[in-house]
Amino acid sequence: MPTYSLIVPIYNEEETIPELYRRLVAVVDELDGEVEFILVNDGSRDRSLMLLRDLHEKDSRVCYLSLARNFGHQVAVTAGLNFARGKAVVILDADLQDPPELIPQLIEKWHQGYSVVYAQRTQRRQENWFKRATAFAFYRLLKQLADVDIPLDSGDFCLLDRQVVDVLNAMPERNRYIRGLRSWAGFPQTAVLFDRDPRFAGSVKYTFRKSLGLAINGLVSFSTVPLRLSTYLGLFSAAIALLMAFLVIYWRIFFPLSPLTGYAIIASSVFFLGAVQLFSIGILGEYIGRIYDEVKNRPLYTLSEVAGFTSPQPTRNRS
Ligand code: UDP
Ligand code: MG
Repeated sequence: MPTYSLIVPIYNEEETIPELYRRLVAVVDELDGEVEFILVNDGSRDRSLMLLRDLHEKDSRVCYLSLARNFGHQVAVTAGLNFARGKAVVILDADLQDPPELIPQLIEKWHQGYSVVYAQRTQRRQENWFKRATAFAFYRLLKQLADVDIPLDSGDFCLLDRQVVDVLNAMPERNRYIRGLRSWAGFPQTAVLFDRDPRFAGSVKYTFRKSLGLAINGLVSFSTVPLRLSTYLGLFSAAIALLMAFLVIYWRIFFPLSPLTGYAIIASSVFFLGAVQLFSIGILGEYIGRIYDEVKNRPLYTLSEVAGFTSPQPTRNRS
């Protein structure tokens, strides 16, 4: 059994895989225990899977899973966690934005007794201002709203002790926001700071839509405050309605000929209330949609190819 499992989700990363492998090998050769690489192909449409097959042929430490279609980053990582056999598991991105050279520092903290060591970004070089600003705002909003303490500016790059991996694997939920679940699990947790490098090659695979989806998932999975927002908005519009009623009475008494009391007020209040109601229904929808997902209880992913595992671990949320 390996001591360390390194999980890397891969979606159309043919340009980075050779360099990724080179840098990972340079790091793991210095480590104090055996390593398995778990490369998870998330339905890539380029040559990524072929490259993984080649690596597996060349190096018996390389295991890979191939999901039958693109299931998304969080599910790909979950699949990796289901198969990992190491005593400690490291999750990192394929594009080398999470520098493999940080792994020894994560392991050092693990040796000191921490069960979760997450890498916290101090800088994001060469990511555009829009991504930086939205990420900054999102992590702070999530911290305010979430029921568990989810650390700021840390992505999925982390080391997890076997105990925590077992907890994550036993969680049946479909909407997986791994950085939240990992905080939820508890156990001693600590951060290691790092500068986020630019992507090594290729284009960003997290489109704006996927990032937004992940952000909403994080909020909805870890907070019910948005549901309460409808109540607040309701109170707010009631206050405005009351104010308008007073205004109308005032105008009627002091300016009986003013045309203001007419259409403008009606039109704007109809729009305002319409917006509040649609917004509230939208929030309800986010939660109901997730309840529906959970109730359907479909497997989280389907696998088309698995190589390198002699005895895969039976785990609960595997297909
Ligand atoms: N990824 C994936 N499935 C997806 C999208 C992304 O497995 O549907 C992988 C991708 O190959 C990379 C990691 O997730 O290893 C992070 O993606 P990306 O670098 O595009 O995101 P960002 O760094 O902007 O968060
Ligand atoms: Mg990236």
